[in-house]
Amino acid sequence: MSRPVQYNTNDKVTMVDLPEGYAGEGFFATSFDKFVGLARKNSMWPLPFATSCCGIEFMATMGSNYDLARFGSERMGFTPRQCDMLLVCGTISKKLGPVLRQVYIQMAEPRWVVAVGACACTGGVFDSYSVLQGIDQVIPVDVYVPGCPPRPEGLIDGVLKLQELIGNESMRRRTSPQYNSLMESYGIQ
Ligand code: SF4
Repeated sequence: MSRPVQYNTNDKVTMVDLPEGYAGEGFFATSFDKFVGLARKNSMWPLPFATSCCGIEFMATMGSNYDLARFGSERMGFTPRQCDMLLVCGTISKKLGPVLRQVYIQMAEPRWVVAVGACACTGGVFDSYSVLQGIDQVIPVDVYVPGCPPRPEGLIDGVLKLQELIGNESMRRRTSPQYNSLMESYGIQ
């Protein structure tokens, strides 16, 4: 008896929505910004910076049940130079702050940051001398995911929010005076 082999057929593939534009017979026109945004938002490469319990939720999010790969983010990198989405999951001590900052600096532009869980967002329950009260004290954050810990659904929601932000981001944003002054406020060139 032959093995029951299953193939992916086209009716199982979900296509992303087209960006805003003009469609006609045999053509579709949009702006370059939207086209690049569409490509960027559906191919984010995550860099997990996991220090404690929220890291376990991140692992569950990458697993087959929740499967972050469905959103184009299956390719995790453990080097900052090959990733563009930094996921900070867990308690960050003040001693670890400069390390996190260094990792962020080593990522190439454009780069985005998600603070996963109460500890990364605000220090969480650890209102102590040794814990950073939010990673936005050392690096800029794009999306905050609340919860202690957030469930994988929460993390996926954060990634979807980030996708929305990336899809609408102007290509000029990274060279704008506002962005430069934001980086300067963190002492980052
Ligand atoms: S937010 Fe809660 S679950 Fe996440 S690292 Fe902090 S204590 Fe652990």
